[in-house]
Amino acid sequence: MKIAKEFSWEMGHRLPFHEGKCKNLHGHSYKCMVELSGKPDKNGMLLDYYDLKKIMDPIIEELDHSFMVNSSDKELIEILDRLKSNKVIVDFDSTAENICLYLMDKVRRSSLPTNIEELKVRVLETENTYAEESCKL
Ligand SMILES: [Zn+2]
Repeated sequence: MKIAKEFSWEMGHRLPFHEGKCKNLHGHSYKCMVELSGKPDKNGMLLDYYDLKKIMDPIIEELDHSFMVNSSDKELIEILDRLKSNKVIVDFDSTAENICLYLMDKVRRSSLPTNIEELKVRVLETENTYAEESCKL
């Protein structure tokens, strides 16, 4: 059995290595789909959607209306500090693929019940692009 729930947030980022437009400061209306697979409990429930929301809310709250910046991007961190702007400092470039792995790691380290066997996270940077990864739990 599989259940899924979608989450969304607004976030700024840039890809310093990118040769094209993505090196510029810009943002996306991100979405992510969190999928859980496993065996439903005796009540016929894999996980209460409310419990999934409780796991995801603080993760999404940290990212929403924030700027994700690589710890190596010192100049930008200084500017964001000066502006007193929200930021999430990470040790990777904020590609959709890396954000997907970041979210997957956060969900994985939350207290998911043992009946859940597989986790899949899909991150949509735009309406027609996504990165996806899954792992066994
Ligand atoms: Zn972008």
